[in-house]
Amino acid sequence: MTTTIALANQKGGVAKTTSVATLGAALAERGHSVLLVDLDPQACLTFSLGLDPEDLEASVHDVMAGTARAADVLVGTEDGPDLVPATIELARIETEVAGVAGRERLVATLLDALAADGITYDWVILDCPPTLGVLTVAALTAADGLVVPLQCETLAHRGVGQLLDTVHDVREHTNPSLQVWGVLPTMYDGRTGHARAVLETIADTYDLDVVSPPIPKTIKFAEAPAAGRSILATARSSKGAKAYREVAEWLEVRAGRDG
Ligand code: ADP
Ligand code: MG
Repeated sequence: MTTTIALANQKGGVAKTTSVATLGAALAERGHSVLLVDLDPQACLTFSLGLDPEDLEASVHDVMAGTARAADVLVGTEDGPDLVPATIELARIETEVAGVAGRERLVATLLDALAADGITYDWVILDCPPTLGVLTVAALTAADGLVVPLQCETLAHRGVGQLLDTVHDVREHTNPSLQVWGVLPTMYDGRTGHARAVLETIADTYDLDVVSPPIPKTIKFAEAPAAGRSILATARSSKGAKAYREVAEWLEVRAGRDG
């Protein structure tokens, strides 16, 4: 059975991509087969896993546009997971599918096509762009669970309400079984009471679970993408790597739970 999760937050720079790459590597390390899907036209996930989008013959955009098979755009990564890579062409998809019925199923259709070719995974992790547009809606439509990476700063909660409104719409129209798994605190500086207070406010206001442990703020994350590997490889025993490994264990437990 496959568990599909989307990491979404329409705010940029909250560690969605870093969390997708690192949790993917951590789940692979624990023996799971993992697929990562880059749904951001900026292609940061693709870059950070050591691929140059310019060198790719085909990408997620071609699959969505119907000019490539999903199985043909898959690439392996040194971290372990497979990747459906993105290129800047993905920026065109919003206008290309505007008004097209069924566009919410773009990601689900891609995953179904892989499964039809006998390519399945224990985990699929979807890296969303910093918008609440077609691609994020399509990711939420394909997902069992949503994890919301969140930087614990004062105005962080403003976006959460809008994101949960989108979740509500998706549940109503395209994916009734979507569950919000929780908020993943990132770039967390526990020395400031401020970060803790922001987290508590958000958890209380929106009645959301807060994933533990929070991911600490550390410079190690800035160094990993240049190496084309996640922090699990570049800083194996750092605090950040340890925290993501624990969150991967939490994901396993959460996936086994109903409701
Ligand atoms: P998003 O995908 O939400 O836009 P990214 O994952 O690209 O966010 O992260 C934004 C920036 O923050 C990147 O430069 C990344 O290296 C850095 N970063 C991510 N997590 C941490 C962390 N725990 N501590 C310090 N910097 C981080
Ligand atoms: Mg990103």
